Amino acid sequence: MERYPITDPDRELIRLALEVLEKNFDDGVYNHTVGCALRCKNGKVYKGVNCDGIHGSCAEYITVGIAISAGERDFDTIVAVHEKATNCVLSPCGNCRQMLFEYCPDTLVIVNDESGQLVKVKACDLLPFAWQPVMC
Ligand SMILES: [Zn+2]
Repeated sequence: MERYPITDPDRELIRLALEVLEKNFDDGVYNHTVGCALRCKNGKVYKGVNCDGIHGSCAEYITVGIAISAGERDFDTIVAVHEKATNCVLSPCGNCRQMLFEYCPDTLVIVNDESGQLVKVKACDLLPFAWQPVMC
């Protein structure tokens, strides 16, 4: 799996994800506990938080949906955050890995590597042998 170094714009993306989480954190209810920021190839950044509930949705899903609703299709880098996670960065869950694989497999995802260092990897590399739609 190819790994890409973290850049200053990536650190800014993490900061923006933490900012949207801080602004929407609902202490005592805890429906919004993860933030996400997505940078498009045109430089625009979209931010979101998770929406918990019986069929809740992860911050990555919400944020990709916001970007797509705004007409974006070309994504560069995405990150999900929680203030208590290593480097404040969370790896996408399995459901989000599948969504990223289907929507934007070449998008870079900021994660912690095995030694706790921030790196970027392609979304498609996070889900080997992923389910793919059958083209009829
Ligand atoms: Zn998820």
